[in-house]
Amino acid sequence: MIDPAQESASPTLLEQHLAACDDACPMCGYNLHNLRGDKCPECGQQLKLQIALTQPRMAAFITGLVGLAAGAGFAGFALILTTLFSLLSGFWEWSDTLVLAVETVVFSLLVILWHRRSAKIRRLSSGARWKLAAGAWLLSIIGLAIFGVVAYE
Ligand SMILES: [Zn+2]
Repeated sequence: MIDPAQESASPTLLEQHLAACDDACPMCGYNLHNLRGDKCPECGQQLKLQIALTQPRMAAFITGLVGLAAGAGFAGFALILTTLFSLLSGFWEWSDTLVLAVETVVFSLLVILWHRRSAKIRRLSSGARWKLAAGAWLLSIIGLAIFGVVAYE
């Protein structure tokens, strides 16, 4: 449905673009040619024009994020398992639980920090971004090694 206020106004940049182009709705694939307004008539999603990078250079950022998330995921999952095992057996390895709890919190905070600093990380040089990503994975491996040392003492 076309908003009456928009019908009388001059076409927006989105409408001008869609008058000239045959773009499909990114949500449902409906052909938006000559769309009036800013909502897809098929799925109802609001649309906007935007400038995007052709190559967003996200690989190192995502690699680092996955590295930190792997550390948080491993520690959190192992914490759940050791807690369940301890509850069932009645035998607590407090050092294991403590190390896993600290690692879960630290890696979760690092994931949040990594995400919040995404713009700064993406502005770094390619070499610096990949060093940071490698550092994120190295931290996860170190976290795993620390747990391994504590668990097998
Ligand atoms: Zn749609």
